[in-house]
Amino acid sequence: MTALQSTAETTSKSSISHQIVIVGGGSAGITVAAQLHKQEQSLDILIIEPSNQHYYQPGWTLVGGGYIPFEATVQSQEKYIPSDTTWLQDTVIQFDPDNNSLRTQKGTRVAYDYLVVCPGIQIDWDQIKGLKDSLGKGGVCSNYAVEGATYTWETIQQFKGGNALFTYPATPIKCAGAPQKIMYLAEEAFDRRGVRRKANISYCTATGKIFGVDAFVPALMTVIQRKGINLKTSHNLKEIHSSEKIAVFEVKTGGEAETISIPYDMIHVTPPMSAPDVIKQSPLSVEGPGGWVDVDKYTTQHNRYPNIFSVGDASSLPTSKTAAAIRREAPVLVQNLMAYINQRTLTAKYNGYSCCPLITGYKKTILAEFDYEGEPYPSFPLDPTLERTSMWMLKRYVLPWVYWNRMLKGDEHEGNIIRRLFAQ
Ligand code: FAD
Repeated sequence: MTALQSTAETTSKSSISHQIVIVGGGSAGITVAAQLHKQEQSLDILIIEPSNQHYYQPGWTLVGGGYIPFEATVQSQEKYIPSDTTWLQDTVIQFDPDNNSLRTQKGTRVAYDYLVVCPGIQIDWDQIKGLKDSLGKGGVCSNYAVEGATYTWETIQQFKGGNALFTYPATPIKCAGAPQKIMYLAEEAFDRRGVRRKANISYCTATGKIFGVDAFVPALMTVIQRKGINLKTSHNLKEIHSSEKIAVFEVKTGGEAETISIPYDMIHVTPPMSAPDVIKQSPLSVEGPGGWVDVDKYTTQHNRYPNIFSVGDASSLPTSKTAAAIRREAPVLVQNLMAYINQRTLTAKYNGYSCCPLITGYKKTILAEFDYEGEPYPSFPLDPTLERTSMWMLKRYVLPWVYWNRMLKGDEHEGNIIRRLFAQ
C-alpha cells in the first residue's frame, strides 16, 4: 500500500489522477478494492478514506449486550488497505462526474477513469430534537454511535426498573434488525439481574410491523410475546427531553398524526439515516428521499454515469443495508466494472440478497436471509425462521472471522466459505 497520508504531501500535490478511485474504505470500499486487485494486479487503484480505524459494526450489538468489548470490533485501517493500492487519507467534499473528477477536504483534485462510491450512511442525529445533547448519559444510548455501544451496556447494567424504550425510525437504516436485537439482549440481562419484573419494555417503531420481511414476522411476534414486550407501531421518535426523561413520538393512526409523550428510564435510540450530504448535494444522487447514489439495482452501475458504480449503505440498491449484502454486491460490481473497462456487456446481476442475524437472546439467533422479492434465501437446508444456537455461534464467532480474514481480503462470499466450514 502506498499512503498519500501526510498533509504536506496531499496539499503540495493538489492534483492527482488514478485509473480507479474508490471513495470510502469501509466494508464495501475495502472489499471491492481487494477483489479488484485479485482480478487484475496491474489496476491503478486509489482509496480515499479519512479514518485510521476500520470498524466491524455488526459486532456493536454484542458490545451493547455485554458479550464483547468495543476494542474487539476495531482494527487499524492500514492493515486492510490492499497492498499495491494507494491510500489518500482525506474526505471527499465534492463530486464532478461530468469532468470525471472530485475534490477533497485537503484541497486535492482527484481525476479518475472509473469511480466506485462507498461512503456509507449518514446518521441524522439532528432530526431528533434534544438527542445530540442527551446521548451517552442519563439512560440515553445508541449502538449506532461509534463507541456508543459501550454506554448501551452500562445503561443496561444500571437499569433498576421502569420504562425501557427501544426505537426504530421512519427511514431506511443500516441493519434493520439491530434495533430489536439489543432489546432482546437487554431483556435477558434484566432477567439475570432480577429487575425484569420491574421493567416495562416497549419496541417503538415508526413502521407498521416488527420486521420488514414478512416471512420472519410470525417468529419474531412469538419472541415478543414470550418476552412480554409491548410492540408500539407507527411511533416515530421526534424529541427527547432529557431533564424530565420524556420521549416524544409522532403517532400516526388512520392518516391522523398525534403527539404522545412517554417517560423513560432508559431509551435505546435508532436515529433516522440518509445518504451522506456530499452525495445528496451531488449529481450522483437519486431524486427523492434518502438521496442515495443512483445505481441500477441489478448491475450496481450508475444510472446516468456509466463509469461510476456503487454498493453498500450509500447506494440506492433497494435491499436491507448490511455488510452481508455487501458480500454479495461486491463481486457483482467487480465483475461488471471489469466488463465495462474491457468494453464487454455487463452480465453479473445482484439479486438483492441481504442477511440479518436476528439475535433473540443468549445462544439464540434467527438467521434472516432474503432477496429482492422479500423471500427467504437461506444458506443452509434448515427452516430459516427458527431460533437456533448454531446461528448464534455463526454470528458470534464465524462471521467476524469471515469479515476480517476473508471478506476484507477479497475472498469469495461467505455462503461458500460457511458451507465449506460446516462440511468439514
Ligand atoms: P461503512 O462500513 O460505514 O464505511 C463507510 C466508509 O466511508 C467509512 O470508513 C467512512 O470513514 C468513509 N467515508 C464517509 N464519508 C466519506 C467521504 N466523504 N470521503 C471519503 N470517505 C468517506 N451488518 C450485517 O451484515 N450484519 C449485522 O448483524 C449488522 N449489525 C449492525 C449493527 C449495528 C449497530 C450497526 C451500526 C451496523 C450493523 N450492520 C450489520 C451494518 C453494516 O455494518 C453496514 O451495512 C456496513 O458496514 C456498510 O458498509 P459501507 O462500506 O457501505 O459503510
